[in-house]
Amino acid sequence: MNAKMLWQYARLVVGVGINVQKGQPVMINCPIECAPFGRMLMTAAYDAGAKDVIINWRDDYCTRERCLKADDSVFDSVYPWDALKLNSLAKEGVGVISVSASDPENLKGVDPDRLRRSRIASGRDLKEFMRAQMSNGIPWCVVSVPIPSWAKKVFPDLDEAEAVERLWDEIFKTVRVTEDGDAVEEWRRHCADIEGKARKLTEYDLAELHYKNSIGTDLTVKMPENCVWLAGGDICRTNGVKFVANMPTEEVFSAPLRNGVDGTLVASKPLVLSGNVVEGIRFTFKDGRIVGILADTNEENLRSQVDTDEGSHYLGEIALVPYDSPISQSGVLFFNTLFDENASCHFAFGEAYPACVKGGDDLSPEELAAAGINAESNTHVDFMVGTRDLEITGVTRKGETVRIFENGNFAI
Ligand code: ZN
Ligand code: ZN
Repeated sequence: MNAKMLWQYARLVVGVGINVQKGQPVMINCPIECAPFGRMLMTAAYDAGAKDVIINWRDDYCTRERCLKADDSVFDSVYPWDALKLNSLAKEGVGVISVSASDPENLKGVDPDRLRRSRIASGRDLKEFMRAQMSNGIPWCVVSVPIPSWAKKVFPDLDEAEAVERLWDEIFKTVRVTEDGDAVEEWRRHCADIEGKARKLTEYDLAELHYKNSIGTDLTVKMPENCVWLAGGDICRTNGVKFVANMPTEEVFSAPLRNGVDGTLVASKPLVLSGNVVEGIRFTFKDGRIVGILADTNEENLRSQVDTDEGSHYLGEIALVPYDSPISQSGVLFFNTLFDENASCHFAFGEAYPACVKGGDDLSPEELAAAGINAESNTHVDFMVGTRDLEITGVTRKGETVRIFENGNFAI
């Protein structure tokens, strides 16, 4: 890692990630251990014309202490001043950068019910902010930089400093930042590439997809009429500017028909879920609803997340990522969904992105539900299912069969 690459990364996140416009407020969520990078993001945002930059420092230690020791009542609401801050910034069209870096096991031993209640409280009290984010009313971008506890989990055989250095190398590769390259140009090319794939999938007008592989996945997923496959950049519906919500991003995604999922889905990678690692996930679905949940570790955390509300019992996202994608090729298990989901075909249970149906960003939750997608939940959890031998066959609305995935990779 060197300063030149770090600055290039910070400018990429500000310029392409949230695509800051003159006079726009910016909010940055950043772990204290990544303070130097958080400061660079702030400078880059001001240099790009931000009206003001609000930084929220996070700390794994403090989060854990609060989750363990605060009075039980504090998990049932968000403080009014925090709600006012986020909801009013959303109204102002704030650009939000979140730096995702955490010890994957930071909340081991915390009562899952406290976390569940806290998700419900956030969903209720931060509704305006959350809805603005889900429906592209504000530009947002999730990125990551290493912290020692996380780097050691990814590279347990290296000493702490080496592990951090190695994780930097891997992250720079995934976000296409190189010493002498032009990351902005690389991203333009990359987005055009995956957006082309998304357009192709939309044009197929798939009515359903069948998933099958050797670890036990055997699933039928129906798609809503007027479904749209998305990839790369989104358009902010308030300022019309293109932004990239995840860096890295390799996925082409849409939303399944809420009541149209049947069969068995077996996860292919561990999932870091609210500070706990859940391994060996197996879900069973009937008419869209999760009716069976099994996991080899921390099953109670998974169950609690699925029990958040009614909507969290249904899938909200279907995403395709080739087994040969660059992040997958690195062979690194990141223990961070931002990376692991971009190395593998995945689904998410919980709320769907409205833009996955035509004109969805302008529809109300009731209209989105009528369009067939999982329109309301206080959670959205991606989990990985892609394998080397995954086969996906599609059936178009005209009744034609299309091979979508063969041997873990796109066949279209
Ligand atoms: Zn996804
Ligand atoms: Zn997702």
